[in-house]
Amino acid sequence: MIMKNISVLGSTGSIGTQTLQVVRDNKDIQVAALAAGTRIDELEKQIREFKPQLACVATKEGADELKLLVSDMNVKIVYGSKGLIEAATLDLADMVVTAVVGMMGIVPTIEAIKAHKDIALANKETLVTAGHIIMKLAKENHVCIYPVDSEHSAIFQCLHGENKKELDKILLTASGGPFRGKDIEFLKHVQLKDALKHPNWTMGKKITVDSSTMVNKGLEVIEAQWLFDVPFDKIQVIVQPQSVIHSMVQFVDGSVIAQMGNPDMRLPIQYALYYPNRRTLDIKPLDFYELGQITFEKPNMETFKGLAYAYKAARAGGNVPTIFNAANEYAVRYFLDEKITFLQIYDMIEYAMSTIPFIDNPSIEQILETEQSVYELLSNF
Ligand code: MG
Repeated sequence: MIMKNISVLGSTGSIGTQTLQVVRDNKDIQVAALAAGTRIDELEKQIREFKPQLACVATKEGADELKLLVSDMNVKIVYGSKGLIEAATLDLADMVVTAVVGMMGIVPTIEAIKAHKDIALANKETLVTAGHIIMKLAKENHVCIYPVDSEHSAIFQCLHGENKKELDKILLTASGGPFRGKDIEFLKHVQLKDALKHPNWTMGKKITVDSSTMVNKGLEVIEAQWLFDVPFDKIQVIVQPQSVIHSMVQFVDGSVIAQMGNPDMRLPIQYALYYPNRRTLDIKPLDFYELGQITFEKPNMETFKGLAYAYKAARAGGNVPTIFNAANEYAVRYFLDEKITFLQIYDMIEYAMSTIPFIDNPSIEQILETEQSVYELLSNF
């Protein structure tokens, strides 16, 4: 029996493929639409296995190539940002998994909400830049937003059945990334390959670099602020290097509830797909005897400025989180192409945040304009 129809935006990425793994293992979810960027061959395999009604790729050339590959199948092929919206709003789907990377996730997420689709949110840029618009829109359309990020899923699980008014603090955990404990002198000389080695999680390249700068944790603070309607100064980041506590909440009586488990993204994905139910999952359970201890540290925000900039952006509000995020997206792209050094990621963010004009309560158009101004500014960096 089919329980649910989902569309997966970003189906060939890390979250996308793990979402499809969960679908494959459970056998009672139908895939309505798949959207990918440029990995045409991989998308063809996914189409053959999951038989969606619609598939989207980034470009017209990609769409033409894919059409030939799947000409024996009954699937509509679309492309570009228009195609992505078609995938996000397809009638058949009850839920949209938004696992595209970066700010291109904003508009399709908005359109999906307007079309009354529940959202399994894996694209944190959407809430970071447009949280004030998205959360209101979701409420108006009676749409649920289920977090897929491991920390936000943990917080969501800890809050299940609780009175949100009794929440005092969110304790957002961080692994500290591959450079935890290192100083500025060390960071001056790090190479791309070092930044791509995350100690605990297997993730896409962009988010792995973001973890090494702690920008990822900063984006997560801003995301949590919108998702759980908690002011950013009530969100405390705690470094927990073993990554077994995925986050915690503290209530007004001082009680703390944590969600724990071995790090595997399939757990938060599956929880979002089947909420409020739990399904079995072949993840090795935590062995506390083997684990021995769990340790905690304060994040070093002077060295890993990504987190400090994020708090600054959250405090400023308006379009500043967009400036922070867009500058980081641009800088990480350059870092991945080995055109800038690790520390220049921070320099680019700082430069953009101190240069681009402030806009209060920005509209979607103003958010996208801010993104473009950041890219233009940094092209002359
Ligand atoms: Mg996370």
